[in-house]
Amino acid sequence: VVPALTVTLGSRFAGELPEMAVRWQAEDAPDPRLLVLNEPLAVELGLDPEGLRTPEGVRLLVGNAVPEGASPVAQAYSGHQFGGFSPRLGDGRALLLGELTDTDGRLRDLHLKGSGRTPFARGGDGLAAVGPMLREHVVSEAMHALGIPTTRSLAVVATGRPVRRESILPGAVLARVASSHLRVGSFQYAAATGDRDLLRRLADHAIARHHPGAAVAEAPYLALFEAVVAAQASLVARWMLVGFIHGVMNTDNMTISGETIDYGPCAFLDAFDPATVFSSIDEQGRYAYANQPLIAEWNLARLAEALLPLLHDDQEQAVEIAVAALGEFRVHYSAAWSAGMREKLGLPAGLDDSVVSPLVEELLGLMKAGHVDHTSCYRALGVAARGDVEPARALFLDLAGFDAWVARWLALSPSATAMDAVNPVYVPRNHLVEEALDAATAGDLAPLTALLGAVTAPYDERPGLERYAAPAPGDFGATYRTFCGT
Ligand code: AMP
Ligand code: MG
Ligand code: MG
Repeated sequence: VVPALTVTLGSRFAGELPEMAVRWQAEDAPDPRLLVLNEPLAVELGLDPEGLRTPEGVRLLVGNAVPEGASPVAQAYSGHQFGGFSPRLGDGRALLLGELTDTDGRLRDLHLKGSGRTPFARGGDGLAAVGPMLREHVVSEAMHALGIPTTRSLAVVATGRPVRRESILPGAVLARVASSHLRVGSFQYAAATGDRDLLRRLADHAIARHHPGAAVAEAPYLALFEAVVAAQASLVARWMLVGFIHGVMNTDNMTISGETIDYGPCAFLDAFDPATVFSSIDEQGRYAYANQPLIAEWNLARLAEALLPLLHDDQEQAVEIAVAALGEFRVHYSAAWSAGMREKLGLPAGLDDSVVSPLVEELLGLMKAGHVDHTSCYRALGVAARGDVEPARALFLDLAGFDAWVARWLALSPSATAMDAVNPVYVPRNHLVEEALDAATAGDLAPLTALLGAVTAPYDERPGLERYAAPAPGDFGATYRTFCGT
């Protein structure tokens, strides 16, 4: 028996929510080859990495060998895409293989992306290319290493099937792990059916898996909503603090768990500019860096609408309840962001907001005006806190402004050690990601492996990795574009 295949996959989602699960099979991969395997994650899941490397293990990772008792499904969901509602999205090129219990006893979804057309595929081919799947692997693992809640990548397997995009590309399947794949769009789907019993089962399922405290609250469904609001406020604050731009915050790409999901056109800020947009299809800048908290709140309003039938029998009162709960988003978000900025600047506890707020705002203004590299800036300020202001000073254009700012900040005795613990040296910079994916698509995995090595220990500065810490050359960031659904 191949150890990888002894894994027991449950079908709790399909069992409790059959209306939202379509039994389906992955397409055959003609020549599956393992490109990357996340061994620590495999171990965490109770899977044997050696077993996963065998031909049978690789067939499991593309959905062509289904463990006994498992029944893969495509999940149904709806979603607001760029503000417009699509009642029927769902897994068009993905499958939930099932849930497994990890070594900590937690239930985790094992899911495939790029595994072929499903009944939700509409015009799509159901496939994914090697580059974008490796992109999800490296960026999601970087996010995890940064301590930001996220889905994880277990493996990327090249299928041997060509994928037709602007050119012909090698195809791949990503094996993804998440605490669940429940989305705001899942609730929109259940609500749109008009079947209140389905909506209630979905909410109960979400409570059991993600916010068990809500089950014992006086109003469990309100408590569920409040928990999602708090989790998303905290998540988006973390994105903002690290300079992450999700790129496609449609309601089908926002989880109930509070994990980051769906790494399509995402990218990290190079030069700090709140208006930054990388996604080629985001022409209005709806999902620009600075808009992310507002969009999260908008998406949560859509979740609230979906939950209204469960919040109160009288729908007018339900709206009042929902509006009040949604109001907490701003409170949570501001608190998380302010606390995070205090940490990034190494500030001691107890400083008054009237001191910290203007200090933060002025720094961001100077960074924007000087096109200062977001990631480098905070590490250079750590060096300044140790006594050498020059590396930070060299990043700014308005030197008088910077000198005045830094003097005020240094007078507050910032802690460099505290700063280095929260400000990463290495993030998956756009030019490095592109370089690694281009090489991998051409068959050379060495740059990807090296990049992964850097970004999976992001706070720990190491000799020899200087190019992974350095800003993009020239005006790379100004013209950089990312793509959805490739
Ligand atoms: P995304 O923008 O990646 O979140 O995807 C939005 C919707 O399009 C989801 O329902 C996906 O399953 C579907 N989709 C994206 N790419 C494809 C594809 N190549 N084939 C089929 N469905 C797709
Ligand atoms: Mg999606
Ligand atoms: Mg996607």
